Amino acid sequence: MPITILLAIAVFIGILWYKRRNPCNWERTGGHGTLKEFRCKTCGAVAYSARYDGPEACKKDIGDPPAL
Ligand SMILES: [Zn+2]
Repeated sequence: MPITILLAIAVFIGILWYKRRNPCNWERTGGHGTLKEFRCKTCGAVAYSARYDGPEACKKDIGDPPAL
C-alpha cells in the first residue's frame, strides 16, 4: 500500500476541513501585546484574537444589531 497516496489524501481532507472551519481571510491590521487586530478580507469584519493566524470563526454575525 503506497503510504504517500494515503498521506496526500489525508492532507487534502485536512485542507478542506480547515477551509470549511475558517472561511475568513484574516489580515492583521494592528494591535499590541497579546491581542491582535484582524480584518476579514472576505466580509470586512474586524475581530481581535490572540492567535497568530486570526480568529477561528468569522465574526460577521457577532455585533451586528438584530434586524427589526
Ligand atoms: Zn469573514
